[in-house]
Amino acid sequence: MSNCAIVGINWGDEGKGRMVDLLTQDYDVVVRYQGGGNAGHTVINEKGKFALHLLPSGIFRSGVVNILGNGVAMDPENLWNEIQSVSAQGVAVTPDNLKISDRASVLLPWHRDLDSLEEARLADKKYGSTKQGIAPFYSDKYQKKTIMAGELFFPDHLKAHLADLLEWKNLTLTGVYGAEPYTMERLMAWVDDYCEKIKPYICDVGAFLKSAQDSGKKILFEAQLGSLRDLDYGIYPYTTSSNTTAAYAPIGSGFPGAKIDEVIGVVKAYSTCVGEGPFTCEWFGEEAEKLRQAGFEYGAKTGRPRRVGPLDIVATRYGVQVQAATNIALTKLDVLSYMDKIPVCTHYILNGKQIDNFPFPTLLNDTKPVIEYMDGWKCDISGVRRWEDLPVAAQKYVEFVEREIGCRIGYVSVGPERESIILR
Ligand code: GDP
Repeated sequence: MSNCAIVGINWGDEGKGRMVDLLTQDYDVVVRYQGGGNAGHTVINEKGKFALHLLPSGIFRSGVVNILGNGVAMDPENLWNEIQSVSAQGVAVTPDNLKISDRASVLLPWHRDLDSLEEARLADKKYGSTKQGIAPFYSDKYQKKTIMAGELFFPDHLKAHLADLLEWKNLTLTGVYGAEPYTMERLMAWVDDYCEKIKPYICDVGAFLKSAQDSGKKILFEAQLGSLRDLDYGIYPYTTSSNTTAAYAPIGSGFPGAKIDEVIGVVKAYSTCVGEGPFTCEWFGEEAEKLRQAGFEYGAKTGRPRRVGPLDIVATRYGVQVQAATNIALTKLDVLSYMDKIPVCTHYILNGKQIDNFPFPTLLNDTKPVIEYMDGWKCDISGVRRWEDLPVAAQKYVEFVEREIGCRIGYVSVGPERESIILR
C-alpha cells in the first residue's frame, strides 16, 4: 500500500479517527494537514477511550511518526493540554513520535476571544462555531497577522513581532467589540506557559516527509470534518475556515510534492450535522431522538446534540466527487439495526422538480428530501466480522449505497472498537 488520505465525505463526525486508528498499522507516518483544536476524533483501542482534537490519530501506535503540518491551526494551549491528558492515559508523546511544522501558523490567545465575541454579536444569526478561534485564526493567517511556530526560536524577533500584532489586534478588540485590550505581559505569559512547552516538537517537517517518501515509508494524511464543511466546496458560510479535501493534503502537510494514491472517504450509514446551516434530510422529534440515542450523537468537542437524519445520497455523491474518493468506509451500520425499515434520501425536490445533483448553497434551504425505504435487518450485527455473515438486508443496503454514490465500499464498520470492522 502507498500514500493515502482519510477524509470525511459529509458534515464531519463520520468516524475518521476510528479508521485512522485502524489503518495506522500499515503506515509509518500520520499527518494532520488542516483545521485545529475544533476537531473531535473519538478513538477506542486497547489503551482506552480518547477524544483527540489536534493530535493525529496515529499517536497510539508505536513506531508511527505523527505530524502537524503547516495547514493546521497550531494552538499551543490546546495541544499542550491534550499532550498532558493523553500522556496521563499512558500514551507516550515525544519529539520522536510528534513533529510540528515550523511553518504552521500559531493560533494566538485572542483568536478564541474573537470567536466568542463575534458569535455573541451575531446572536440568532450565529454560524455555530466551536469557539476554538479557528475562523479568526485563519482570517489572520491570510492577512499575515499571526506568527509561525518557527519564530518561537528567535526570542527578540518574536517579542517585537507579537508587540506589533498586539497593537493592531487591540484596535479590533476595543474598538469593534468593546472588549479588554491585551497586554504584552499576558501575551508573554502565554508564550512561557504553552509555547515553550511545545518548542521541542517543532522542526522542518517538509524535509522529514520528503526523506520519508524517498525511503519508501508510507504516509497517511488525516483530515478533519468533511466535504460539506470545506471552505471552497462546502455549504458556505456554514463551512469551516480551511480545506477539508484530500487535494489540500500535500499543501497543508508541508510536502507539496506528496503523492496520494488512495483516498478513503468515510461515510456514516445515516446523516449527522453539528452546528448551523442547511441540512435537507434533517429529522426532528421522537424519530430524531431515537436515532441520536442509538448512535450516541453528541459532539466530541462540545457535547452538543448532533442534528440527525437518514443517509443523504445526493450530498454523499457530491462529497465523494469533491474528495475524488477511491474507496469508502461506511461506519455505524450497527446503529441502524433497531429500524424496521431503513430510510434513505435518494433525491431532492427543488422548486417542484426532482434533482440528483447537490445544488448551490443558497438553494439548499429550498430543498426537500425524497425518502425511499429499504428492508431492515432487526438483529445485532456488532459481532459480525465477515461480509458473508451480514444479514442479506444489511448487505443490500451497503450495495445500494455503493451503487448510488458511485464508489466502492471497501470497509463496513459495525462498532467503535478497532476490530469491529468488515473488510470487503
Ligand atoms: P470523526 O471526527 O470523524 O473521527 O468522528 P467522531 O469521533 O466525532 O464520531 C464518530 C463516533 O462514532 C465516535 O464516538 C466513534 O467511537 C463512533 N464510531 C465510529 N465507528 C462506529 C461504528 O461503526 N459503530 C458505532 N456504534 N460507533 C462507531
